[in-house]
Amino acid sequence: DIRLSSRVSTVRPSPTLAVTARAAELKRQGKDIVSLGAGEPDFDTPGPIKDAAKAALDRGFTKYTAVGGTPELKAVVAAKFARDNGLEFRASQILVSVGGKQSFFNLCQALLNPGDEVIIPAPYWVSYPDMVLLAEARPVILDTDIDVQFKISAEQLAAAITPRTRLLVLNSPSNPSGMAYSRAELAALGEVLRAHPEVLIASDDMYEKILFGDAPFVNIANACPDLLPRCIIMNGVSKAYAMTGWRIGYCAGPSALIAAMETVQSQSTSNPCSIAQAAAQSALESGDTLLTPMLQAFARRHQYVYDRLRTLPGVAVLPSSGTFYSFPNVQGVMQSRGIDSDLQLAEQLLEAGVAVVPGSAFGSPGHLRLSFATSDENLRLALDRIGGYITAPA
Ligand code: PLP
Repeated sequence: DIRLSSRVSTVRPSPTLAVTARAAELKRQGKDIVSLGAGEPDFDTPGPIKDAAKAALDRGFTKYTAVGGTPELKAVVAAKFARDNGLEFRASQILVSVGGKQSFFNLCQALLNPGDEVIIPAPYWVSYPDMVLLAEARPVILDTDIDVQFKISAEQLAAAITPRTRLLVLNSPSNPSGMAYSRAELAALGEVLRAHPEVLIASDDMYEKILFGDAPFVNIANACPDLLPRCIIMNGVSKAYAMTGWRIGYCAGPSALIAAMETVQSQSTSNPCSIAQAAAQSALESGDTLLTPMLQAFARRHQYVYDRLRTLPGVAVLPSSGTFYSFPNVQGVMQSRGIDSDLQLAEQLLEAGVAVVPGSAFGSPGHLRLSFATSDENLRLALDRIGGYITAPA
């Protein structure tokens, strides 16, 4: 037997990918499964972005680039932060990585020591706690529920901070809850953080563009400009531009931290794919023009899914502020079915022909994550099946 590191034994493979894989396996066996498991837009990458990649290939842009991203892409990222977020960053404060996933991995490796604590509100994106564990630090999970719109309070944050706390992770709008913090809510959290200058803040803005209401996007650096020197703003092209497979994420923050993160990256992947960088550059240069049809579809589907879910007995659901997820509380369904785990409920729904991700995967048992990054027809079918399962006699 091969003896593995204790580090790797503390983490598990991504459970969201596992559900998608299980659904795909059942489909291969000929079962009729509608998957609401996906964590990616169902749209193809817009044509002009693909054209930029083809042009990069044709001009031989196929070699190593600067580890942290081409100067051209960094300039466009800086322009994006200025234009969309009112934040000014120099090139030395920007790092381009192999997806938002690598950005957060680099951050953990560059910042954390064994025993350090990272505050992570639940429900959380599945990778945060595991990447903290891989850095041999300790995730400190703050529970939330539907009554507080899945958002942490200032009091909760204040009570969680210890002398070992190095980082707070904020993800708004959130995968999986779909909730976004308001400026006032962020200001209240910022007020707590002011008293703890040693705590950094990772603002994961990956779903910035997918926002349904009239309120403009806001992050904690917007709400509390004085905290900007302690913020790492993380973003990427994966979700906004339907570019999950291209693997380009970017972040900006204090230059000493960014330099350390770049060193980590230089000893793992080196630069992100040169061709994908050219594509990301064209995506960010295009601003929001290519996004409108996708955003309209997400907004329409959200309305449909929310309207259907809210009528189901035993289901409590909030309208999402953004993202392509709905995160209903299904404890009522579990009770009436005599089921005690959301994993079991997800398995039964898979039997009924719908793949969803159990809330436990995100640290919030008793919930399900439904992705509406799929066709209207699939959504109708999936909700018919979920409704059929719930209302059928047990
Ligand atoms: N952050 C959040 C909240 C996410 O949901 C994801 C993807 O699922 C990422 C970051 C990472 O995105 P990627 O590595 O695909 O760019």
